[in-house]
Amino acid sequence: MKYISTRGNAPVLSFEDAMLTGLARDGGLYLPETIPQLSHADIAAMAGLPYEEIAFRVMQPFVGDSFSEAELMDAITAAYSGFGHAARAPLVQLGPNHHLLELFHGPTLAFKDFAMQLIGQLFQKALGRRGEQVTIVGATSGDTGSAAIEAFRGLDAANVFILFPNGRVSDVQRRQMTTPTESNVHAIAMEGTFDTCQAMLKDMFNDFEFRDGVKLAGVNSINWARVLAQVVYYFSSATSLGAPHRKVSFTVPTGNFGDIFAGYIAKRMGLPIDRLVIATNRNDILHRAISTGRYDMDTVFPTITPSMDIQVSSNFERALFYAYDRDGGAVAQLMGEMKQGGFGISQGALGVLRSHFDSGCSAEEATSATMKTMFETTGEVLCPHSAVGVKVALDHLGGSPMITLATAHPAKFPDAVEAAMGVRPVLPRWLVDLFDLPERLTEMPNDLQHMKSLIRERIAL
Ligand SMILES: *Cc1c(COP(=O)(O)O)cnc(C)c1O
Repeated sequence: MKYISTRGNAPVLSFEDAMLTGLARDGGLYLPETIPQLSHADIAAMAGLPYEEIAFRVMQPFVGDSFSEAELMDAITAAYSGFGHAARAPLVQLGPNHHLLELFHGPTLAFKDFAMQLIGQLFQKALGRRGEQVTIVGATSGDTGSAAIEAFRGLDAANVFILFPNGRVSDVQRRQMTTPTESNVHAIAMEGTFDTCQAMLKDMFNDFEFRDGVKLAGVNSINWARVLAQVVYYFSSATSLGAPHRKVSFTVPTGNFGDIFAGYIAKRMGLPIDRLVIATNRNDILHRAISTGRYDMDTVFPTITPSMDIQVSSNFERALFYAYDRDGGAVAQLMGEMKQGGFGISQGALGVLRSHFDSGCSAEEATSATMKTMFETTGEVLCPHSAVGVKVALDHLGGSPMITLATAHPAKFPDAVEAAMGVRPVLPRWLVDLFDLPERLTEMPNDLQHMKSLIRERIAL
């Protein structure tokens, strides 16, 4: 399997190289040259299988010969062995025709563990084979950073630098990043918002001398291997509700468009998905894009759902690539316009997007009210992000069964949960000492030169 850039102007890579690289050299994102198809019978055969087995069947055709079948199965088994639930991604029912897919049973309590734990394993195998070391730099609004640190802490083959917006992540999120003691872990508190961190990351990747000098590798959701790992739970949940014999729909709390784009890939592989509903908080650029056809950047408002406080939704570029019929030149042009503040989506492309995606937005009060109502009517304690999903899903019920993705554990956002429903969620057993451990972090101005020197200094040690 070969991987191509959404902007059509970067080297074609294998799965392994696309994974180790992250961002393409033309500024685009990698996608498989073709999307492997699973037949009705292949999908029907998944019902009732262990999560790991479904993961192997979904991912193997994309991995090609980058990893042997045994290596891939080994990585999958190791990746999910530390999860706190035997089903890995259990479904619970919220009401008639409405189900919640709990994706927060991994070590750092957010869905990001599904992908990050797996790529930690795959990086280790690939780099060990090559005898190489890389510098992983990630930008985070909270959950990516802790998941990446957890997946890479203590590995010889990688130094991990995580940039997070100072003061804009929850205490639990920050402590998950700042308490690991391994010397290959570097938590950087940046001045600015998540978008500032992500822009800094892109600047580092576009500085080829630096990029090659420190062997930069990216593990943000722009990394194809992460998207791929997330395709799996669309299959596991849909088949347990009767797919492929009946269609299901999904509602996904969205920030960088990575998780919902994985659902789109599942659909393109043959999974009968009816609607994919984009759920945003008041930072609603994606909801506006789908409803109006204009993708215009606004300022980022801080909310009780910090992991979705974003205006530049990187993976949307991948959806545009397909909506523009794989025209890399057209995508490059739109991304150029975005640097000036925004762009209009052509009527044709908008029609394609609307044929797959619906969208909705949940304001702060509605999110809190949903947490309260769900607790009262089902006993389910939702994190605020998952509540955004549930609120928007309730507006889109009808027809096929709806599966809403619960993206984080409520105990990651205890203040917002307690304010909404009067109950303070508790951390799982393995995290109870989180608030007793000493923190270690470096504060940074929004300055590229500063950042580059820090990284060079730290990896020279
Ligand atoms: C990252 C994250 C999201 C957004 O996911 P995207 O892939 O960026 O759309 C939503 N909820 C939580 C809890 C997250 O950590």
